[in-house]
Amino acid sequence: MSASMRGLAVVVLLTGLGARAGETWVLEHARVLSRASAAPIEDGTVVVRDGRIAALGPSGSVRLPAGARRVDGRGGTVLPGFWNVHVHFTEERFADAAHRPAEALSAACRDMLTSRGFTTVVDLGSFPPNTVALRKRAPSLDCPRILTTGVSMYPVGGVPIYVRKALGDAVADGLPQPRTGAEAAALVQEDVRLGARGVKLFVGTWLGGSKTGLMDLAVVQGAAAEAHRRGLVVFAHPGSAQGVAHAVDGGVDVLAHTAPDAGPWTPELLGRMRAGHMALAPTLSLWRVEMDRAQAPAELRERFIRTGAEQLRAFAADGGEVLFGTDVGYIPEQDADEEVGRMAAAGMDWRAVLASLTSAPARRMKDGTRGALAVGGPADLVLVEGDPRAEIQALTHVRSTWVAGKSVFTR
Ligand SMILES: [Zn+2]
Repeated sequence: MSASMRGLAVVVLLTGLGARAGETWVLEHARVLSRASAAPIEDGTVVVRDGRIAALGPSGSVRLPAGARRVDGRGGTVLPGFWNVHVHFTEERFADAAHRPAEALSAACRDMLTSRGFTTVVDLGSFPPNTVALRKRAPSLDCPRILTTGVSMYPVGGVPIYVRKALGDAVADGLPQPRTGAEAAALVQEDVRLGARGVKLFVGTWLGGSKTGLMDLAVVQGAAAEAHRRGLVVFAHPGSAQGVAHAVDGGVDVLAHTAPDAGPWTPELLGRMRAGHMALAPTLSLWRVEMDRAQAPAELRERFIRTGAEQLRAFAADGGEVLFGTDVGYIPEQDADEEVGRMAAAGMDWRAVLASLTSAPARRMKDGTRGALAVGGPADLVLVEGDPRAEIQALTHVRSTWVAGKSVFTR
C-alpha cells in the first residue's frame, strides 16, 4: 500500500459512513441555525452522542468529549434535517424493497433524497407493502425516515389517467374508490394497520381531455373524520376548483399540490383555508414538468405555471402554513433548486422556505422532536455550503446529511 493509499484509508476510516452504536462525534466550526426563526451561531459546534444532540453552542464554549471523531464544518451552515412531504417510491430502483441489496437501495435513497438534505419524507402513495418494507429497512440504509399515507383513495370512476396508464385498466379499476363515508372510514382503518401517519385522498382528478373526477363531499368528510379520530393527517390531491372546495369543506389538513386548473384563489377561499388550518405543499416545479411533458403551447404553459405560483403567493401572504413538497419519484427532477427558486420567486424569503423544510412539516406531522436543533433531540442534520441568509439556493448545496446521527450522505 502506498503512502497516499494509506492516507486515503485513514480518511475513509475517520469519515466512515456508519455511526457505531454509542458513538460520540463532533461537527465543529460551522454556522449553526437551530431553527428558521433563531439567530445563528456564527462559529458553532454540535456534539452528537447515540444519535442525539448532546451539546450545541459557540465553538469554544462546548466541551469536546475526549477521543470524539471530529467533522470540520467550516464554510458551511448546519440546519435541522429537511422534510419533503410529497414523495413516491414507485421507481423501479425501489421495487422489491424487502429483498433488494442494501447498497442498491442506499444508492437510490442518496440519489433521490438524502443527498438533497431530506431526513424525513412522507410517501403520498406508492405500493403500500413495498413502502412498508423500505420503511422498516431505512434505519440501516442511507435512507431518510419514511412516513406514509398508505392506501390512496379515488373518486368512483375517477382514477387519474396517468395512474390508469401506468398500472393498466384492471389494476386501476381495483383501486379503492369508496362510495360512502363509512367505506372511506373502513379504508382509513386499513391505513392505521399499515402504520400510516396520514391518509391520501384524490379529491379532484383529471381523466383525460376535459373529463374530471370528483370525490363526493360525504366521502371526504367520512375519511377525514375517521383519520382525525386516529390521529392521522389528511392529504388531498385537489386538482380542480371543485376538488379544492371539497377538500376545504371536507376537513382535509394538507393540499398536496397547488391547483392551477382551479384558477386564482380568492380571499374568500383563502379565508376558509385559514379557518380550516390547512397547509399547502406547493409542488411548483411539477407544473413546469407537466407542461413540458404535454408539450403545451407557450402561452398555456406560462399561464399554468404562473397560476400555481400565484396561489402559493396568496396562500403564504395570508399566513398559510407551507410544507416543502416536490412530488419527486413522480417527477424525474431530484434537485430541490428549481422548487426553492420558484418558492422564492413567489415571495417566500429564506426563513419561510427553511420553515417549510423543517419546523412546519414537523409540527404538521405531530413530531415535537424534529424541525429544530435542540439538545436531547434526534441528530437529524444537514450541512450546506455557504449561508442561506445571503443566498437562498445555499439550502440546496448539501455537503453532508445525518439521520439520527448516522451519516447518510457526504459529498
Ligand atoms: Zn404525487
